[in-house]
Amino acid sequence: MDCIFCKIIDKVIPSQIVYEDKDVLAFNDINPAAPVHILVIPKKHIGTVQDISSEDKDILTAMFSAINEISRIKNLSEQGYRLIINNGKAAGQEVFHLHIHILGGKDKLGPMLTR
Ligand code: 5GP
Ligand code: ZN
Repeated sequence: MDCIFCKIIDKVIPSQIVYEDKDVLAFNDINPAAPVHILVIPKKHIGTVQDISSEDKDILTAMFSAINEISRIKNLSEQGYRLIINNGKAAGQEVFHLHIHILGGKDKLGPMLTR
């Protein structure tokens, strides 16, 4: 499948990985909108929120556990951070492999958009 994020998972395209387990990969966004800008993705190709099924429960739990772990690694837990999912065309989703943006590392994170 021609999916950039699947290629990042397969390490065909390089990325700066910040966290990895059997279900989840997290890496720095190539075009950061904040001092910390990390994308958290499932290793299973899921295009959008509409493509999530009841079989994916463990994957969703793993994604949020990963976010917690990353927030500890990056010292964001206390200060807080923003999570964003751009879902579908109207939200400006560019890569159709589900991903959660973690934005943090400054006191005021500004507008609700990733860019
Ligand atoms: P979306 O609008 O789909 O939520 O955002 C996709 C994000 O993926 C953008 O913030 C963009 O900078 C990031 N991105 C796109 N291609 C690559 C890539 O090849 N490597 C990395 N690390 N990030 C990417
Ligand atoms: Zn994919």
